[in-house]
Amino acid sequence: MTTVNGKHNILSLNIDMLKQVMLEYGEAAFRAKQIFGWLAKGTESFEAMGNIPSKLRSRLNEDYYIGLPELVRMQESKTDGTIKVLYEFEDGRRVESVFMKYSYGNSICISSQVGCRMGCTFCASTINGLERGLSRGEMLGEVLKMRNITGENINHIVIMGMGEPFDNYEEVSGFLRLINDKDGYNLSMRNITVSTCGLVPVIEQFGEDFPQVNLAVSLHAPNDDIRCETMPVARKYSHAELLKACRDYTEKTGRRISFEYSMINGVNDSDECAKELAAKLKGWLTHVNLIPLNEVKGKDYNASDKRRIANFKSILEASNIAVTVRRTLGSDIDAACGQLRNNS
Ligand code: SAH
Repeated sequence: MTTVNGKHNILSLNIDMLKQVMLEYGEAAFRAKQIFGWLAKGTESFEAMGNIPSKLRSRLNEDYYIGLPELVRMQESKTDGTIKVLYEFEDGRRVESVFMKYSYGNSICISSQVGCRMGCTFCASTINGLERGLSRGEMLGEVLKMRNITGENINHIVIMGMGEPFDNYEEVSGFLRLINDKDGYNLSMRNITVSTCGLVPVIEQFGEDFPQVNLAVSLHAPNDDIRCETMPVARKYSHAELLKACRDYTEKTGRRISFEYSMINGVNDSDECAKELAAKLKGWLTHVNLIPLNEVKGKDYNASDKRRIANFKSILEASNIAVTVRRTLGSDIDAACGQLRNNS
């Protein structure tokens, strides 16, 4: 656990750990539930915890800090109301999070690592490599702070910001349990989506640990040759191994899997690619999400044009595969998929 001046981030503690702390302090166990409740509300200081005795508040203040990130910058899209924020944690590391409004409610896209070491060639988040993983409390802090900033309720979470969540699985799992706790934020597992570039062993583990959380897999290619060109992870886990893990996941959990497929002009968007993909996914419980590539400064890929995307989509549909084209939110503020970074 990271410490600042010898203090721990209290947001990383679950209710059992808080009970343990109360026991050590010689306080009643019910205080743990009260404190946990205050934290889930986004309370920014121990002083503000009205029903906690002042002696306990100052004791907490000696040993812990409430690790909500600092807001460094906020940008609001002029076209769709999307809000992107740049956060800074106690050690000066920065990540971005994005708030989006949908017809079904408000959603936040959070980061799971500072930087990323997966090296996908079309993605901005990986340009400077991995700095460190975020703790469970820091991820919770991204959500709580966003609610404080916007004053809006947040009822959907996607872990699709900077970083590879399955490269920081222990903390991501801890975060999922914290945000789901009925005495805390109480967010349903079904309202959470985790996206991975395809770390096969963790996909299996995730299916066992969190069968109710939605899984999205960044596929981006119909075969190994094309996938290896843009995604170094493809050299470690083959296309066939990845699809097998995904298929096992759908069979075991009964949950549909979502495949993300960024449409990159001249790389993975031909009719042949669509046919090859269709043949491999036909008859499964899946959904393909086509993402028109978002252009990233310093990378020379272009998005496929609308007609190409429409053709690709109709080839998949002809094989009865469910396909949607992702609406690009916040592109005027570089808040769209693959555009999040930490040095801006
Ligand atoms: N590391 C995880 C989480 C990132 S999610 C993963 O790879 O799934 C972000 C999604 O946007 C992923 O599907 C990613 O491949 C995709 N993406 C990255 N760069 C992009 C870009 N420039 N345009 C469109 N999508 C992009």
